[in-house]
Amino acid sequence: MNTPVPEYLADLLQNCKAAQGGKLADYIPELAAADPNKLAVALTTLDGLVYSAGDDDYEFTIQSISKAFVYAYVIEALGREAVLEKVGVEPSGEAFNEISLDQTSDQVKPKNPMINSGAITVHSMIPTTDNTDRAEIIRQFFSKLAGRELAFDMAIYQSEKDTAFRNLSIGYSLRNLNILESDPIEVVGSYVKQCSIKVSVKDLVNMIGVLVNGGVLPQTGERIFSHLTVRQVLTVMTTCGMYNAAGDWLAAVGIPAKSGVSGGIIGVLPGQVGLAVFAPKLDRYGNSVRGIDIMQQMSNDMGLHLLEGIPSSRAIVNDEDITAVKPDVRVYKLNGVLQFAEAERLLRKLQADDHRDNTIIFDLSHISLINKVGQRMLLDGIDRLRADGHDVALVDPEHILPRAKTKLNFEPKVYENLADFDN
Ligand code: GLU
Repeated sequence: MNTPVPEYLADLLQNCKAAQGGKLADYIPELAAADPNKLAVALTTLDGLVYSAGDDDYEFTIQSISKAFVYAYVIEALGREAVLEKVGVEPSGEAFNEISLDQTSDQVKPKNPMINSGAITVHSMIPTTDNTDRAEIIRQFFSKLAGRELAFDMAIYQSEKDTAFRNLSIGYSLRNLNILESDPIEVVGSYVKQCSIKVSVKDLVNMIGVLVNGGVLPQTGERIFSHLTVRQVLTVMTTCGMYNAAGDWLAAVGIPAKSGVSGGIIGVLPGQVGLAVFAPKLDRYGNSVRGIDIMQQMSNDMGLHLLEGIPSSRAIVNDEDITAVKPDVRVYKLNGVLQFAEAERLLRKLQADDHRDNTIIFDLSHISLINKVGQRMLLDGIDRLRADGHDVALVDPEHILPRAKTKLNFEPKVYENLADFDN
């Protein structure tokens, strides 16, 4: 049997060709020369398997997508507090190249690391020993995440550097406030070089594998970022990752994301999937028009919206899931996720139901995820039913409930499947 994912991705690209709007970024002269018809999508699974379609080997400059990874790199190197001292985490609601300083806290600082003032500051914080080129440190780091040697696009780098008047003025303002502690020309030049690293959508999903997988590079098993670093980056991507269209994006697509002016977008759904798209024509906020279209479609088709994905405590057990295999034996078929909210709901239901002198069976074979709180609360419920004089058994083929004894020192009988139950 073949997995249907590659065909699904190819169909997505076919369907979105109709989205004709947008225009090429032109404030970096070289970017205006991009081929507007390039189109690519890639997806990584939690364990690092990559699917892709379209122009999936085509290389483009990473631009602002680099900001998310460099932010993580610097937090990991210097600690979250040190970075927060210089750059905040508030959405700016302004264009990415506004100076956007947060004047409300005691210290004036860039509002967040996804706008240029924040990203230039974060870039300046990359620790160097012997004054090694910071952009080169980042190129090597991105290459490690991508699993292959990445290169700078020197033409784009030069083109942006020669016209970086806006970023230079941001750099000088930051220097004036002592937020930048070194020469703004050098820092801005190096930041622009960071933005010129060439990637394909396949490289991007390989790179985000580490964010999907809680900080561990799926290909090698090496821990690159702590959980807290990953959480911090994904938070900022959620609130500030899509320029000032972050609210629309969150409502429509609902995946922590970052886009760049060359037409790439990455999306990271922690513990599930990583996505990357590329199509150069941009909307007025600077986000890829077709890219948004594809991401929105994937989010709908695969049910990826972050808030939709939160397990519903309603689903754990419905009345039709409570059946009787024998007149005095009641089966509770539990469904989906069993964490605190669902376990609380289950225990409330057990409390409300009239069990008479029934034996109770919990069928756990349809639970997709159970955490420690869920286990503890279910064991607690079993204890309480026992204390009320009920016999309790489990259908638990995957052994998701540890064989630990309940508090009453009672071990429920466990069956592989319901048909094995013999009273
Ligand atoms: N190098 C670009 C800049 O700093 C990146 C902008 C972007 O992708 O948003 O202006």
